[in-house]
Amino acid sequence: MSEEISELVLDALGGEGFEPPKTQRIFTNRDLDFESIEAIGFDMDYTLAVYKQAAMEQLSLDATVAKLLAKGYPTQLSSLRVDLDFAMRGLIVDKLEGNLLKLDRHGYVGRAFHGHRRMSGSERTTMYSAQRIGQDPERFAWADTLFALPEITVFAKIVDLIDGAPDSFVQHGAPTYERAWHDVRAAIDLAHQDDSIKREIKARPGEYLEDDPELAITLHKLRSSGKKLFLLTNSYYPYSKVLMSHLLDRRLPEYESWQSFFDWVIVGSKKPSFFDAGQQFLEIDPDSGELTGEAVDVPLRGKVYQGGAREGLQDALAMPGDSVLYVGDHIYGDIVKSKKSSSWRTALVLSDLEHDLAVRDRYRSALEEVESLTRLRNQLSEQSGDQRNLLRQIDKLEPSDINEVVGDGVLAERECEALLEKGVQAARRRHDRLKRHHERVYERLKEVRKEVGKAFNPYWGSVFAERYDTSLFGAQVENYACIYTSRVSNFRYVSPARKFHAPHGSLPHW
Ligand SMILES: [Mg+2]
Repeated sequence: MSEEISELVLDALGGEGFEPPKTQRIFTNRDLDFESIEAIGFDMDYTLAVYKQAAMEQLSLDATVAKLLAKGYPTQLSSLRVDLDFAMRGLIVDKLEGNLLKLDRHGYVGRAFHGHRRMSGSERTTMYSAQRIGQDPERFAWADTLFALPEITVFAKIVDLIDGAPDSFVQHGAPTYERAWHDVRAAIDLAHQDDSIKREIKARPGEYLEDDPELAITLHKLRSSGKKLFLLTNSYYPYSKVLMSHLLDRRLPEYESWQSFFDWVIVGSKKPSFFDAGQQFLEIDPDSGELTGEAVDVPLRGKVYQGGAREGLQDALAMPGDSVLYVGDHIYGDIVKSKKSSSWRTALVLSDLEHDLAVRDRYRSALEEVESLTRLRNQLSEQSGDQRNLLRQIDKLEPSDINEVVGDGVLAERECEALLEKGVQAARRRHDRLKRHHERVYERLKEVRKEVGKAFNPYWGSVFAERYDTSLFGAQVENYACIYTSRVSNFRYVSPARKFHAPHGSLPHW
C-alpha cells in the first residue's frame, strides 16, 4: 500500500492527526479519560435541542409582555423587539436598583447598565465598591441560562419606562424596580406554565430549533463504542417527545425512533433537586404519554420515566459515579449541582462559544497587541509609582543631608542646594517621561480593547472575559465543567479512547 493510500485509510477511520475547526473543539478544564466513561447523560433544552435564539427570545418576549399588559403595564412594551446583544448570559440583575451588572472573576463590577443606560465608572464605584455582589439572592439574580435572557430585555425596558415615562403606568402608577422584576419573573413563569410558549414550539418545532444533521450520527458513534446513553431533562414528556422526534426520528435506519438512541429516558426530572432528593421514578406510557401508575426506585432500561433521583439512576447504571459523564448547558442546575452531589464528570454545552472563538480568531493580532500593551502598561505603572516615591523622598531632604550622601561634609550649603535641585529635576523629568509613555500606551490599549470588545458584544464584550481578567461566568465555566464545547455533535470527532488533558494550572510566580 502506498503511503498516500494508507494515509487515506487512516483518515477514513478517523485516525490521528485530524483537528476539527476550533469552533467545534472540546476544551478541557480537568483531565478526563474518555475511555473510562461508560455512560453519557444528556440534558435536552439548549443541550441536545438548541434553539434558534432570535425566534425563541421573541416568542418568550411576546408571551411575557402579553401577561404584563394584562396586569396593567404600559402599552409601549408591546413593540419590544429582541436585541440579541443586549441581554447576555452571565449578567447579574440588581433588582433593587434596576441595574444589569457584568462581574469579573473576583466579583467586581466591570460594566453596568441602568435599564439601557450605560453607567459611568464613578456611578459603579459609588454603588458597588463597598459590597460583594451576588451574595444576596434577595437583591441579585443571575441570568445563567439562555432561557433567562428575555426577562432581562423586558426588565431593562420597564426600568427605562419607570425613569422616563412614569405616567405610562396608568393603572397602578410606576412600580419600584424590585416590584417590576418580580412581575416580569411571574409573567415569564406563567407563560411557561400555561403552555403559551411550549404550545407554539410544539406546533412548529422547525421554526424554533436549530437543525443539527450531525446529532444522530454523534449519538450513534457514542453508542457503537459501547457507551450507554440516557436523557435526563426537566421538560415533561409531551414537549420532550415533540422535540426529540423532530431532532432524531428517521435520521438513521438503525434507529426505530428517538427513544432507541437512549437506554434510559427520564423527563420532568426536577434538576437540581434530582441530584440529592429521593423521589421515585414514575413510569410513562410512551404512546399515550400518560403515567402508568408504576413507581420504582431504580429505573428499567428501555422505559420512560418522570421524576426520580440520581441515586436510583446510579443503581440502574451499575457503574462508579466517575464513569458517568453528564452533558448540560445550565451551569448551576446541570453542572455545579451534579458535581457537588455526585462524582459524575461534567461537560458544559455553550452555544455562545462559537461566536467567541470566531471573534478570537478574527482579532488574533489585536488580542496579542492587547496582551503586550497590558504587560507594558503594568510595567510603566510600577516604574512611575517608584519614581513618585523617589520624588517624595527627595522632597524631604535638607541640603545638609546631601553632605552626608555625596559630599562627606565638605560641600558648601549653596553647592548642596544646587545638587539637591538637580536631583529633584532629574527625578521629575524621569517621572514625567514615564507618565507620558504610560498615557500613550493606555490610550492605545483602550482603543484596541474597545474595538475587540465591540466585536464580541457591543454592550458587554466577551461573555468569558471582563476587563483584563476572566468574567465571573468564565470562572464558573472553568471551575465546574470538566470539559466544555459549543454543541453536542462536536463529540463526533472524539475517539472512544481520547484522553482530554487540561492545560497545567499556574500561579503568577510559576
Ligand atoms: Mg438545558
